[in-house]
Amino acid sequence: EAGKVPERILSYESSMLNARTKRVELENDLYKALEEDQLFLQYQPQLNIQTGEINSMEALVRWNHPIKGWISPADFIPIAEESGLIIPFGRYVLETACKQTVELQKVINKPIKVAVNLSVGQLFQENFIDIIKEVIQETKIPPHQLELEITESMTMNTNYITPILKGLKEIGLTVAIDDFGTGYSSLSYLKDLPIDCLKIDRSFVQKISNKDDQEPLVDMIISMAQHLKLDVVAEGIETIEQLHYLNEKKCDFIQGYYISKPINIEDLSERFNEIEQF
Ligand code: C2E
Ligand code: CA
Ligand code: CA
Ligand code: CA
Repeated sequence: EAGKVPERILSYESSMLNARTKRVELENDLYKALEEDQLFLQYQPQLNIQTGEINSMEALVRWNHPIKGWISPADFIPIAEESGLIIPFGRYVLETACKQTVELQKVINKPIKVAVNLSVGQLFQENFIDIIKEVIQETKIPPHQLELEITESMTMNTNYITPILKGLKEIGLTVAIDDFGTGYSSLSYLKDLPIDCLKIDRSFVQKISNKDDQEPLVDMIISMAQHLKLDVVAEGIETIEQLHYLNEKKCDFIQGYYISKPINIEDLSERFNEIEQF
């Protein structure tokens, strides 16, 4: 039996190979997707609880694969990161979001802010600040109407991130920490970061089931934001109880299926007033 590879290992290897083949395939497809306009953006409005107005929205990328159908950004963004495609991909998202926001604003006749998700490779590319400046110039979006969402883990190396954030601040745009509460940021650590907004992760919001419940983590994040004079957005609101709770706790903005799912820009411009008065 010498030299014979056990069945167990063979099937392990073939499944690894399979996974790798699929990944390479998806990577090639993603490259094509960029060239062939298969990617587009949807927008999810954020409601200002105190005024009842929609002043901002988050851009979320979508991929309609010609054969496989819808692929979640959670599945293809890691591939874009590993393959380096994140650079042209990130630029496409930024440009499209800014361009469409400027267009939307003309239709709804009031200023609206757009929040764009950044990934690690994009934020840490050498000429990131120049790219942002170019996009602002090209699309003519007022810089204060562009917000960039980064995650807590991207801020961990403060020596590295602080000058980048300062550079962004000089241009006049704002920065939000996404999925806040899932990392380990402390109050003392946050106070030195030039950021503008905390987004409470959906997992905490979804624990609110009754307005009389207590959700200490949500309360703590809201009070941290208030101390630091940051805006606070709660994500993933699906019920009226969650809305009531967050209103009572004086959260600034809420975002979630209860207000609106992410929708195409045409639908948002058509239904803007309706969503605002939901
Ligand atoms: P995220 O930035 O935390 O975005 C929020 C996600 O929650 C979105 O999923 C959104 O559709 C979903 N969501 C919003 N409201 C609700 C709700 O009430 N209930 C539930 N169950 N879900 C809700 P999506 O669009 O699938 O995006 C997943 C993740 O992919 C995003 O999480 C973000 O990390 C990443 N992503 C999306 N678009 C981009 C992009 O353009 N660039 C980068 N770098 N990442 C992106
Ligand atoms: Ca986000
Ligand atoms: Ca989030
Ligand atoms: Ca998330």
